[in-house]
Amino acid sequence: MSAPGREAAGFRGLTLGILGGGQLAQMLALAALPLGVRVRVLEPDPQAPARLCAEHLLAPYTDPAGLDALAECDAVTLEFENVPVEALAALDGRVPVRPGGGLLARSKHRAREKEALRAAGVQTAPFKVIESAADLEGALERVGGRGILKTSELGYDGKGQARVSTPAELAAAWADLGRVPCVLEGLVAFGSEVSLSVARTAGGELAFGPLIENVHRGGILRTSVFPAEAPEGTEARAREAARAVAEAWGLEGLLTVEFFLLPGGALLANEVAPRVHNSGHLTQDGGGLSQFGAQVRAVLGLPLADWRPLLPCAMVNVVGVQGQEPDWAQIDALPGTHVHLYHKAFRAGRKLGHVNVVAPDRGTLRERVAELERLIP
Ligand code: AMP
Repeated sequence: MSAPGREAAGFRGLTLGILGGGQLAQMLALAALPLGVRVRVLEPDPQAPARLCAEHLLAPYTDPAGLDALAECDAVTLEFENVPVEALAALDGRVPVRPGGGLLARSKHRAREKEALRAAGVQTAPFKVIESAADLEGALERVGGRGILKTSELGYDGKGQARVSTPAELAAAWADLGRVPCVLEGLVAFGSEVSLSVARTAGGELAFGPLIENVHRGGILRTSVFPAEAPEGTEARAREAARAVAEAWGLEGLLTVEFFLLPGGALLANEVAPRVHNSGHLTQDGGGLSQFGAQVRAVLGLPLADWRPLLPCAMVNVVGVQGQEPDWAQIDALPGTHVHLYHKAFRAGRKLGHVNVVAPDRGTLRERVAELERLIP
């Protein structure tokens, strides 16, 4: 904020605005506060997780007074990709929004995203855009005979998706999804899934997060592990792909690329999130800079370097399961664990928190992760 009285020393006196007040905003705020950075979130949900650690502008994302208050911040970032274009237009020219609208337009639309990944020279699974009944013709053969149909917009955590292996299944799945614009992707026989984040300042300086290995359950991330088990050179290639996306898409701020790692070692980009990512939560407790600190720094133009845990570490998500509660006493008693709760009301299938665990070596980490997975339904 350009208010008088800002302390010149260090980072004090800066205010970061965030569109959205969910758990990512909460954890961004928790990383910003110790740097002397205040946080203001625009978020219509009165129970949103970030309400407890940030100034909460309780209003719709398009609210003019709320947007005026965000425009007074030093920079604005976001924690979700589906920010209304009206909100971005209202902030345009008044405050730096990082990442900006051009990048968001790509990352929130699967078809545009895949085309823009290819244009940046990054490999993806074979895909075919489905926008009319005529597009269904021959689509499955084009992607290799078996595929996943995904809505182009508003899909997340495996929602808005269907696996198909015959033309009849494809037609039925498209009808089920409401005949909205979709992408049919070839089914990838991946060996594992990995992710890597990149941050880029407005001046074009780059910094990278670590390569992280991810296991999903029912379309939702279950466990992330650092270091990822991957052939030599994988991290360098993931960085190169992330750098290509960051530069071609004009990133300011931080983005995360999710990849399929094929048994031969090739990487296919699956998705780009224009922000910190669930897989990077383990960086909170690995001893290095966290992904949240990295996003805050990149967005505000504060000093930034590669961020990487100093110790092997992992994260297990806590997702609501009806009638079952994690065994908190045992989780607490397990060495190296750090519980992170989002202060959200219980709902089955909802991300309610996560538990990070750190260990002195990979073998001990594996044992602790197995134990955590037993204690968290
Ligand atoms: P997404 O919403 O695209 O991130 O997909 C959620 C999860 O579904 C991914 O992390 C994969 O585990 C799986 N998945 C998505 N797309 C494909 C694909 N083309 N081939 C195989 N598995 C996929």
